[in-house]
Amino acid sequence: MLKIGITGGIGAGKSTVSRVISSLGYPVYDSDQRAKWLMSNSDLLKDEIIKLFGKKAFLNNELNRTFISNIVFKKPVLLEELNQLVHPKVASDYNLWVNENKKAALIFKEAAILIESGAYLEMDKIIVVVCSIEERINRVLSRDKITAGEIKKRMNAQLSDEERIEMADYVIDNSAGEKKLEENIKGIIGKILKS
Ligand code: ATP
Repeated sequence: MLKIGITGGIGAGKSTVSRVISSLGYPVYDSDQRAKWLMSNSDLLKDEIIKLFGKKAFLNNELNRTFISNIVFKKPVLLEELNQLVHPKVASDYNLWVNENKKAALIFKEAAILIESGAYLEMDKIIVVVCSIEERINRVLSRDKITAGEIKKRMNAQLSDEERIEMADYVIDNSAGEKKLEENIKGIIGKILKS
């Protein structure tokens, strides 16, 4: 089995790439979605989050993101502490998932901070999804309730495409339409299977 990491900046198209890969029949682990799910569904993690932020951290049993964002904005060290609670749970969850999918020839892990977190070291190959900054901003603006300024702020807090490309085995340029994307992905999977 080969483990393939998928990463890229905000709005580059990681989830879109993952969706195509999934539709081709390969297992894909979405780290960010699983982290969100675990924060609202793991009793142990929920207890730890309540210890850190208080009971208001949850609203109707769901993580109260607005409350937490406001606190960590004032006290960034708490974001670091939250990450330290979440990361080991996601790591165990991922390891279980790998075990459940051990018969697959290729498994994929999508993570926005694959490189920054060091998780890329566990991958056999890394796919970096890139797209022009203008297009990424436009796509995120039509997807989320967010301003261009906020998107740029997030981009500045992330690695640049150039930095990610240095770590890539394969680069997917997602500037064109989704048809072209599928062809690119099939080509890359073919190369990986032959490698
Ligand atoms: P984030 O890091 O913000 O979660 P992401 O890298 O996972 O983003 P996606 O959610 O896959 O990016 O894509 C961002 C938006 O752009 C989505 O609304 C998606 O439908 C759209 N999109 C992605 N790829 C294409 C494409 N090739 N053509 C047109 N629209 C696209």
